[in-house]
Amino acid sequence: MPSWLENLIYAIVGGVMTYFAQLFFERWKNRNNRKEKIEQENDTLKKVIAQYEDIKEIEKTLNKNTGSTYYLRKLSNGMESDKICSTCWENNHKTIPINCNYDTGYFICNVCKQQAIFDKEKVNQNESRKKENDEQYESFINYGR
Ligand SMILES: [Zn+2]
Repeated sequence: MPSWLENLIYAIVGGVMTYFAQLFFERWKNRNNRKEKIEQENDTLKKVIAQYEDIKEIEKTLNKNTGSTYYLRKLSNGMESDKICSTCWENNHKTIPINCNYDTGYFICNVCKQQAIFDKEKVNQNESRKKENDEQYESFINYGR
């Protein structure tokens, strides 16, 4: 075989081998990228599912029949205690403890600023006391007229 023909065959075989090696490498790279992307998506989905599981678990511990805009959250010892903001829970699934003002009967949420009654009796007491005071003030002002 003439040496030019031998060289030509080597060149062709070399070219074909390089072509397939590149093809193989590209496919391997793409598969790895796809694998990485799928793993990332999988991690994201696992986190989302875990969040939903958490929400479901907390939802089971909530008593929404409070007659007001807060929920009672049952503690692990079975006691109902934590008052949490219903707006923050329904909108963002955050358990924000509400700040109860025991003198007024009102509460306010530090996050969404929702304000509502948590102790209707207290509010009624305060209102009747205020009315009484107003009446006393009225009669004091009108005294002797
Ligand atoms: Zn809130």
